[in-house]
Amino acid sequence: MSILEYVRPEIRSMQAYQVAAVEEGFIKLDAMESPYAYVDEMQEELGKQLSQAPINLYPVPNGDGLAEDLRAAFDIPPNAGMILGNGSDELIDIVTKALSKEGATLMALEPSFVMYALSAKLHRMRYVGVSLNEDFTLDLAATLAAIEAEQPALIFIAYPNNPTGGRFERADVETIIKTAKGVVVVDEAYSAFSSDTFMDLAGQYDNLIVMRTLSKIGFAGLRVGYAAGAPILMDEMAKVVPPYNMNQLSIVAAKFALQYQPFIIENTERLKAERERVRTALKAYEQIEDFPSEANFITIRVPDSNLLFDTLKQNKILVKHLHNAHPLLANCVRLTIGRPEDNQAVLAVIEQLYGRT
Ligand SMILES: *Cc1c(COP(=O)(O)O)cnc(C)c1O
Repeated sequence: MSILEYVRPEIRSMQAYQVAAVEEGFIKLDAMESPYAYVDEMQEELGKQLSQAPINLYPVPNGDGLAEDLRAAFDIPPNAGMILGNGSDELIDIVTKALSKEGATLMALEPSFVMYALSAKLHRMRYVGVSLNEDFTLDLAATLAAIEAEQPALIFIAYPNNPTGGRFERADVETIIKTAKGVVVVDEAYSAFSSDTFMDLAGQYDNLIVMRTLSKIGFAGLRVGYAAGAPILMDEMAKVVPPYNMNQLSIVAAKFALQYQPFIIENTERLKAERERVRTALKAYEQIEDFPSEANFITIRVPDSNLLFDTLKQNKILVKHLHNAHPLLANCVRLTIGRPEDNQAVLAVIEQLYGRT
């Protein structure tokens, strides 16, 4: 008997999460990373602090003050409970694990972040996807009907949504939180680029968890995420958090990052301005359909997404091809917003393909 017979069949049928190997000289616009790294003197200062991190000791739960620094920096209500995760991917895993009673259902909107369905599978929850409208807005009637019919224990809503970029109507999400009996996670990975947040309500609804990350604001490599909600619920989540899930180096680096908030704010503002500039530029092309974005990426539909993806690649630009991810994403490509010159390189390829000659 092969050793593989011992592996869970649903895991055998999966593929490991694909992280593209990027060749030297490529412009990487596929994963919503910030293009802005620390300049020399900040690198040096961070290096000094990292050299003093107590890596011989296990990290303190809640990150040696990091949770309180995050609370202060990002307006997390004082009456909300918090947990920290090794990226918000780990928080998705933790919340799913805590709610994965036998036969329980996890619901997500589609298309949305792929980790939700994956997490359901890994924790043996029933998965129900509710389709968005064709323009990627939320179909409130269908969503409420699905909640009524399926009684999900857990609903994930990315706000703004990935990979579509738009933010759903606040009132619709609030209706979902009020209607659902189970937990609703509002995943605000892109909150820094968004005009709205549910963080102010964290702690006010027993069934609401607001989840965020430092990944999209310049620190994808640190793997730091945080979640806030009613203490009664977050205390249960805390039981599932692996001991020592955060590491001393990330804790030191994240605390350092929060001391230099102007760096974060300045880069966020630059990327938001670039997003608007790129979106305006895209409007000039009749063949391109662009969707509203409150994130650091823009998703577009073109006549032939293979052609656009391949041509960008020939020009050493890597973006995310969404064509096969979901039927509603036919011929769609997701462009992470980079530095002005990176975005200009994308627009030059678009002009070459879709410009009037
Ligand atoms: C990027 C992303 C995450 C994951 O963030 P990490 O903190 O890097 O794990 C979670 N949710 C959404 C919607 C994302 O786009």
